[in-house]
Amino acid sequence: MSITVTLPDGEQLQLPDGATGADAAAAIGPGLARAALAVEVRLGEGDDGGEVRDLARPLPDGARIAIVTRKSGTSALELIRHDAAHVLATAVTDLYDGVKISIGPPIEDGFYYDFEFPPGTSVSEADFPKIEERMRAHVKAAEPFERQDVPVAQARERFVSEHQDYKVELIDDLVANAGEGGDGSPLTTVSLYTNGPFTDLCRGPHAPTTGTVGAFKLRSVAGAYWRGDSTRTMLTRIYGTSFFSKADLDEYLERIEQAKARDHRKLGRELGLFTFSDVSPGAAFWLPAGTSVFNALVSMSRDMGSERGYSEVKTPQIYDAELWRISGHWDKYKEHMFLVESEGRQMGVKPMNCPGHAQLFGMSRHSYRDLPVRYFEPGLLHRNEASGVLHGLLRVRHFAQDDAHIFCTEEQVEAEVRGALQMAFDTYALFDFDVRLELSTRPEKRIGTDEMWDRAEGKLVSTLDELGLSYELNPGDGAFYGPKIDMHMTDSLGRSWQLGTVQLDYSMPDRFGLTYTGADNQEHRPVMIHRALFGSYERFIGIMLEHYAGELPLWLAPVQAMVLPVSDRFSEYGASVRDTLRGAGLRVELDDRSESIGRKIRDAELRKIHYMLVVGEREERDGSVSVREHRGGDLGDMSAESFIERVEGELYSSALTPGKSSERRA
Ligand SMILES: [Zn+2]
Ligand SMILES: [Zn+2]
Repeated sequence: MSITVTLPDGEQLQLPDGATGADAAAAIGPGLARAALAVEVRLGEGDDGGEVRDLARPLPDGARIAIVTRKSGTSALELIRHDAAHVLATAVTDLYDGVKISIGPPIEDGFYYDFEFPPGTSVSEADFPKIEERMRAHVKAAEPFERQDVPVAQARERFVSEHQDYKVELIDDLVANAGEGGDGSPLTTVSLYTNGPFTDLCRGPHAPTTGTVGAFKLRSVAGAYWRGDSTRTMLTRIYGTSFFSKADLDEYLERIEQAKARDHRKLGRELGLFTFSDVSPGAAFWLPAGTSVFNALVSMSRDMGSERGYSEVKTPQIYDAELWRISGHWDKYKEHMFLVESEGRQMGVKPMNCPGHAQLFGMSRHSYRDLPVRYFEPGLLHRNEASGVLHGLLRVRHFAQDDAHIFCTEEQVEAEVRGALQMAFDTYALFDFDVRLELSTRPEKRIGTDEMWDRAEGKLVSTLDELGLSYELNPGDGAFYGPKIDMHMTDSLGRSWQLGTVQLDYSMPDRFGLTYTGADNQEHRPVMIHRALFGSYERFIGIMLEHYAGELPLWLAPVQAMVLPVSDRFSEYGASVRDTLRGAGLRVELDDRSESIGRKIRDAELRKIHYMLVVGEREERDGSVSVREHRGGDLGDMSAESFIERVEGELYSSALTPGKSSERRA
């Protein structure tokens, strides 16, 4: 008897019946046999991910297989991180008598394991060296991971006798769920994995031994409810990460350090941009420098929008509950809204601009000749986010979006989507980051007919194709009222952020009874397109601060130049230079403190100010400034006028569409 398996290159391999993944690797070659960690098994057709299994398990006949080695990417890292979680539990059960184990999966950047420590024992980061040392011993011992499939009752008995209540509960759940879901057949065995002194209830897979864990590090401790249920016991979760090599681990830790140094909350304080206070959780207090960054972005949205046919509008902040009932927010979003009462009327503070814009559109008559109507409003929005999820500028309760709503005819949808995408790319081109598009299509719960969705999705696809844009497909992830295109950026630390969105909406115009008079003199429903490019300005500024490590591009910088008199005698000349530059629309400050020029330069460098203009006797006599660029570049003497010209050239080349862009950022 023999079995046949297919290798990734399509070649077929004949092996004796009962052959394992390890046998297959050995049959391919001795090098692979040594490098093999696990085997990926695919049973059906199709190209979606197979199941990663232990090398020691017999292969099913007819399977397509791929040997997993450390070069296999995520699946290999996941494997050793799961191994590392077991090694962590091994060390912890060695060191702490009576500790109860629960679960320990691999996660995106590493792994964790949840424990219940006996009463009176707590674990903190100070205990990590001790635990890590113990882990290293188990890794060094290269203990084999041995899988055993044992009868349910036997496994249960084992964990009962060891007082491992969480494992007992997990087994009972596995039994109960096998009855309900699955194929209906009762569960007879469960798998246990043993390495050295430690045995865990675990589905696997695992590498052959603990020796492949390589480099690891424990990272943090947190409380976590058993099964995420706040009525159950609070367990102690220990997070760690592991890599195949020390170099990879170090690189990862370095990246984390960089991210910490770039934390926008820290930069916001250091650069004097914004601050927070518990008197208004989730709402920034913008200092003058931060306000100028904010305003530079808003005026950019205004200018770019008005060139593209958007009209700015202002709609109310607070609306009667009736409007929110019409828009559907009262049903679906009320708990995220701030509610107020006035003269017995229940009212809600707007969390989005859309209903106000729909209301505004509906308040006048429209002919097909007026369409598309494009409303833009960088208005304030409030969302009642739980205080626990608030995070600097990235998650706030009070914010403004570069929000626009386009009302157009069915025939205009493609051109409008194209216009919105083009505007998005024009905008993002001003920042050096990569943009990724995602198309989200009809969700299970939705309104409208299938024909409507076919048409709407088809329009987005044809527009993307026409623009030659590649995108990822997110089936089922659209809004209930229509499909959407989301835009994501990858920052300098490799993190992904969603920024903009373009959404087709066939529901809101219906709910608000919006119409326009067509060429046929009949009333028709317009289509509504929601469009935002930055998302919220607050969040975008937070992301940009981290992306640029606080060194915002010149056109966005809160202070573009600082005038530094070498002594008090030249303060007056310095002030006149500042005023000239301000007159030209640059954001300039004067440092007239009685400090040494060296100190003033150092302070300006720390604030990451792009240009330092030193003025002393010679400069005053010649009517010039001596220009230094951030990070030490000496550009020599020039007149204030040539400096203005130089900076405007830079703003012009770094920014925006051709046209009047250099004057607009003033
Ligand atoms: Zn496990
Ligand atoms: Zn909207």
